[in-house]
This record gives sequence, structure tokens and C-alpha cells, in this order.
Amino acid sequence: MKCYQCDIKMILDCNVKVEGVMYGIKISKKGKGLFNNISAKPKAAVCPNCGYVSFYIDDYKKFV
Ligand SMILES: [Zn+2]
Repeated sequence: MKCYQCDIKMILDCNVKVEGVMYGIKISKKGKGLFNNISAKPKAAVCPNCGYVSFYIDDYKKFV
């Protein structure tokens, strides 16, 4: 994963937390069926050069 601005390798695997709250945010999507919600915890990548932050999830394939 590279920074869009400087084309430098970003620092992956940073935890995402909402300030003041103990739990992070979640990305979710309704799947097929009533109780089949797809969700994933996003991670953040930070560029060590410009500070650009990018969100990503590891298991993105289940959203397809
Ligand atoms: Zn950058």
C-alpha cells in the first residue's frame, strides 16, 4: 500500500479508534438473507512522509 501523494510505502496495521470511545468503528454491509450482515473492522495506514491516512480492511473479499 502506497501513499497517493508521495508514492511512499505506508505504515500498515494501525488501529482505528474514535476519540473518547473505547471501541473502534466498523464497516458493515447487509448481505443476503435476514441475519447475514457482513462487517469488518477497518485498519488505518499512515504515510510517514506527509501524514496521509488511508483506511482499509483485510477481508474485503466478503463484501463482494
Ligand atoms: Zn505521503
